[in-house]
Amino acid sequence: MTQTKRQARRAWAAARRKHIKRGNLYHVEIQHDPGCAIYTPAEVCNCDPVRVLKDDRGHVLARVEGAGFYDPLELAEGAI
Ligand SMILES: [Zn+2]
Repeated sequence: MTQTKRQARRAWAAARRKHIKRGNLYHVEIQHDPGCAIYTPAEVCNCDPVRVLKDDRGHVLARVEGAGFYDPLELAEGAI
């Protein structure tokens, strides 16, 4: 995989935009490393989670790896 973190974040933003535009219902699943600090009282991600976009029937629409730490604000942004 030669994709950079920046490209991965763009791909993730683009996938979400595409499905929002179509008016689809979807769910976002952030798969953190079991050792991620998101599971500590600090609740701050320090792993490199897999981001998965699923439709309302659980089918995977997009899967992005290597986009770096998860920031809850990223879901509110159209592009990164
Ligand atoms: Zn994490």
